[in-house]
Amino acid sequence: MTKANLKKIKEKLLAERDILIDKLKDNDLSIDDSETPDPADLAVRNYSKNVMLAVSENESRQLALIDEALRRIEDDEYGLCQNCEKEITEKRLEAIPWARYCLSCQELVEQGLLDEEE
Ligand SMILES: [Zn+2]
Repeated sequence: MTKANLKKIKEKLLAERDILIDKLKDNDLSIDDSETPDPADLAVRNYSKNVMLAVSENESRQLALIDEALRRIEDDEYGLCQNCEKEITEKRLEAIPWARYCLSCQELVEQGLLDEEE
């Protein structure tokens, strides 16, 4: 990968990181529970709370992946598959700059044949 491309990817990662941090801030779970809600209301609130939690879980996870990718750029290890250590194609990195695995290893992950490190 050329330095120019790497720079572009880094900018993309940083921009994506900002968006995620903003989203996570918006997902503030401060729902006003001070009044006594009726059970139906409570169910709705719990539901939206769970949805929000699930969303922020995804976002936190993605944020961790982005941080990891940025760290790998600093360490000059960016673009190598975390499993087989082959280079991940630039096309794939352009689409998913925080990808940890090459396409074939990603398939293994999706089939549950490869344990993803946390
Ligand atoms: Zn691989």
